Amino acid sequence: MDFSDLGLSQDVLRAVADAGYSEPTPIQQQAIPYVLMGRDVLGCAQTGTGKTASFTLPMIEILAAGRARARMPRSLILEPTRELATQVAENFDTYGKYHKLSKALLIGGESMAEQFKVLDRGADVLIATPGRLLDVFGRGRLLMNDVKILVIDEADRMLDMGFIPDVERIVSLVSRMRQTLFFSATMAKEIRRLADAFLSNPKEISVAPPATTSKTVTQGLLIVDQGGGAHGSHKEKRAALRSLIDSENVRNALIFCNRKRDVGILARSLTRRGYDAAMLHGDMAQPARTEVLERFKRGEMKLLVCSDVAARGLDIQDMSHVFNFDVPAHAEDYVHRIGRTARAGREGRAFTVATPEDNKYVAAIERLIGTRLPRLTLEGIKSAELQEAPPRTRRKAGGRQRGAATDNKPPEAVESRRDQPSRTSSQEPRPSRPPRRQEPDKPVIGMGDHVPAFMLREPKVEKKG
Ligand code: AMP
Repeated sequence: MDFSDLGLSQDVLRAVADAGYSEPTPIQQQAIPYVLMGRDVLGCAQTGTGKTASFTLPMIEILAAGRARARMPRSLILEPTRELATQVAENFDTYGKYHKLSKALLIGGESMAEQFKVLDRGADVLIATPGRLLDVFGRGRLLMNDVKILVIDEADRMLDMGFIPDVERIVSLVSRMRQTLFFSATMAKEIRRLADAFLSNPKEISVAPPATTSKTVTQGLLIVDQGGGAHGSHKEKRAALRSLIDSENVRNALIFCNRKRDVGILARSLTRRGYDAAMLHGDMAQPARTEVLERFKRGEMKLLVCSDVAARGLDIQDMSHVFNFDVPAHAEDYVHRIGRTARAGREGRAFTVATPEDNKYVAAIERLIGTRLPRLTLEGIKSAELQEAPPRTRRKAGGRQRGAATDNKPPEAVESRRDQPSRTSSQEPRPSRPPRRQEPDKPVIGMGDHVPAFMLREPKVEKKG
């Protein structure tokens, strides 16, 4: 199929051709005609599938007719992180280069005064993170009655980050006479409930996660015994990572840590040993995050140590490697992480450092991707075996409380939710929500080590006409 078969205008097709795309991806083939028809869309797809263009291209087409009024955007795109919001804004620049659409980006950590000015000029497209959007709305600088197209992107990550109450509030402020496009990498029960509440007779589309279909990513697992169990020193892991990096021909790589604290420790340790490394995590001030990302994208540094949230969905062309310094506690995060390499059919390599105690997380990943990660050995590094899985035990009674969606997750998972753009510094804290009390980097007592079943299930979406 060709882009010209999708009902897009010559101006959009020209911009797509300039971007160098020859063929629409499956999500683009399926979604674009329905968005152009004005239908709601429920897309089960993750980054790396071409999902962003599947909504930006038809939106540019629809918004080409008409003009925005001051403070009344005509469309709204909600993104869980500032980086994703920025990336979507860049997509509008790329694909909308032959149109005169105005856009506004409302993200934490940037000057509000500037954002007010842009809104005052009128925005055809408003791209925002939920906290900052509600903040600006609360200050009376924005009206949402004129929003005709609403996009909720990465709904599963919004859920993980505790943004769903904000998203529900925002949806309640947008007119019912709207078209809604809703994307999520998974369709857990809670996500399905939201989709049912927000969408009207949607066209349901599901595309395979790129990591399970991509044959172009070479994966491997290096197991090292660091002593002291799961919370022992990371010296052995750091040595293993350095050996991995040295043994590979790395052009540029993301190195993922589960904890923010380890991002800094690892980046500093690598730099001390002469590696060209920097760090990116959600607690850094926005200008610093933007600068480090720009430098990395321009190829001015080779290694970027990062957390899941900060690096989620980062679209960096031609990334040669992804290293997992820690095995992610959510199998889906593994898929997201390694999806940063081997993009758009290119070759990529993704290696994970594990300790014997990571056995259940590795097992969950292997179940999700449907293949065994090849075990690696490296000269000078004493490799170990994963522990045998203990028999499954039932958790003690005590149901999950509403609003505490991550409370049953293992410590690393809780840590990764905390690792979100800081609301105190950059996004308005919602007064109704009690402050989070977890202390960074301490194991959470009493959370158990249970991984909720829905996180291990394959995404399943019913197809309807
Ligand atoms: P996304 O899933 O939106 O994060 O996009 C993943 C990557 O695929 C981005 O680098 C896009 O620029 C790229 N991309 C999007 N559509 C196409 C296409 N039809 N052909 C090739 N690359 C594409």
